[in-house]
Amino acid sequence: MAIRCPGCGREYDVTLFQFGRTLHCTCGERVGLQKRLGPELPEADARPRFLVDEMLEHLARWLRVMGYDAAGAGERSARERSAGERTDEALVRRALAERRILVTRDRNLPEEWRLRNVVVVDEDRPWDQLQALVRRLELDPEARAFTRCSRCNEPLDDVSPAQVREAVPPAVLQREERFRRCPACGRVYWEGGHTRRMRERLRSLEGR
Ligand SMILES: [Zn+2]
Ligand SMILES: [Zn+2]
Repeated sequence: MAIRCPGCGREYDVTLFQFGRTLHCTCGERVGLQKRLGPELPEADARPRFLVDEMLEHLARWLRVMGYDAAGAGERSARERSAGERTDEALVRRALAERRILVTRDRNLPEEWRLRNVVVVDEDRPWDQLQALVRRLELDPEARAFTRCSRCNEPLDDVSPAQVREAVPPAVLQREERFRRCPACGRVYWEGGHTRRMRERLRSLEGR
């Protein structure tokens, strides 16, 4: 099967356009698949999962605070760079394979790759970025807030006060009954003043 250049009609083998890749024809036109690949945005009755570009680590953390699965791209791309794979391709492949929304600052990416599940972030400040994303993808900032580790992206386990006795200040242990712990890094979370302030900030995202 072949894909025809819209400019000059030259034919290219379809395997060149894997994962939605495009190429420049010798005539100067960009050639690619007609249909974009990947899930629609937002995907019907699915809770979106993200793959966040390493430039947007702060935004990724806020998404995790909201309980969204927001994988960071940095670590993975470093591994795959060493395996000789191009960074963009690694990102695109993973986003497609895991049905994640690729969140990036790279404006060229949706030109170079024919994907549906890409969001380009134009805002400079993390909070503005988050606000734009919440609005665009109709995210719910509060429904599952504080159920995921903001560093590791792992879902937190409910643990008893006895299980965290060593890791928590005695005053907190007396005051709080509910604790959660990250199975990856061991960090313990509880409802304190810090959490309340973050909840208030999340609430301010709604209804815009
Ligand atoms: Zn051409
Ligand atoms: Zn963790």
